[in-house]
Amino acid sequence: MEPLRIKGDQTNGIAGNLKGSGTTTAPEKLPTIPLLDLKREVAELKPQLLQAIEGVLDEAAFIMGNQVKQLEREVAEYLGTKHAIALNSGTDALVIALLAAGIGPGDEVVTTPFTFFATAEAISRVGAEPVFADVDPLTYNLDLDDLEAVITPRTKAILPVHLFGRPLDMERLMELARRRGLVVIEDTAQAFGAEAGGRKTGTIGDMGCYSFFPSKNLGAYGDGGLLVTDDPELAEAAAMLRTHGSKRKYYNERVGFNSRLDEIQAAILRVKLPYIEDWNEGRRQAAARYHELLRNIPGLMLPSEVPDGDKQVFHQYTARVLNGRRDAVQAGLAEAGISSYVYYPLPVHQLPVYADRNLTFPLAERLSQEVLSLPIWPQISAEVQEYIAGHIRRLMG
Ligand SMILES: *Cc1c(COP(=O)(O)O)cnc(C)c1O
Repeated sequence: MEPLRIKGDQTNGIAGNLKGSGTTTAPEKLPTIPLLDLKREVAELKPQLLQAIEGVLDEAAFIMGNQVKQLEREVAEYLGTKHAIALNSGTDALVIALLAAGIGPGDEVVTTPFTFFATAEAISRVGAEPVFADVDPLTYNLDLDDLEAVITPRTKAILPVHLFGRPLDMERLMELARRRGLVVIEDTAQAFGAEAGGRKTGTIGDMGCYSFFPSKNLGAYGDGGLLVTDDPELAEAAAMLRTHGSKRKYYNERVGFNSRLDEIQAAILRVKLPYIEDWNEGRRQAAARYHELLRNIPGLMLPSEVPDGDKQVFHQYTARVLNGRRDAVQAGLAEAGISSYVYYPLPVHQLPVYADRNLTFPLAERLSQEVLSLPIWPQISAEVQEYIAGHIRRLMG
């Protein structure tokens, strides 16, 4: 395939340039295609965002005001859950959920080794023991047979991750957890709006933890997170932990955190929330297009389909490049100006922090060697995807 030559300001990414917006820099330069194009989103929403931020400035109430309250109400309604507690980050949401469930030293929590470190870090942070089970190489999520095999009398909770926006089989997980009397805390940081069995991920377990990190499907323009639950006692415990362990000001009942979402971030998230269904649909369409463009390439395994009734939200579009060729393909894409990422180059059990345990999970380790995440965002154009796919086909040939 002929490399695509595009005029324009490279810092804007190819998506904007293909619309013919940039004409200032020299022609014959290859564009840089980002993994995610946030500049475009900001440009499209700017008038609404500025108005929302101005509203907060005019109110001059910056912490725990109306914006946070309304965001919590709107998100709870969207997700179909009783309580939503806005927090400082997704990591804090995990830590606070574990503490609200009474998990601490002496307890084991089963989770996946193929995730962002924060999942296991939260378990270690509260003094409990992260216990890993291996993953399913087709879904990249926890293998539920393996999970059941590592449960011990000290296991108190399961912390599944809906990785890359793909829902885990929650019906089976909940059956297992109920049978074993275990708490379920969903790490749905990468799956805002995804559905398992017709219900939103995060609302199926005892608690769900979301991240509003800017690159997540629903992202703030700074750090942010959220915890949801239907249980009023867990909700009260989480809300207390958010503000220094107090229900009433200056009447602190336990040791907590300062983990509040600020009003400006809440106002920004309220501008973005009404778009999330469309944006997730845009990601699904982009994934379907990659699926067409990249089918039948020997040595390339595309993300597998989800069962009927489930909806994935493609936080990442992550394929597997087999036969030890991943790094070469990634380097070739970079030469063509195409960003791609390896999430995650080391599984959690092999990170320096846990390496002395000498654990081994062959499938998670194999995925770390083979996965490659391709550019995806809700408005990515067919032209950009064709360009990327053309290079992948050439590099895999
Ligand atoms: C992003 C992420 C987190 C942490 O969220 P922060 O808001 O960055 O603290 C936790 N788990 C997973 C799987 C994530 O992707």
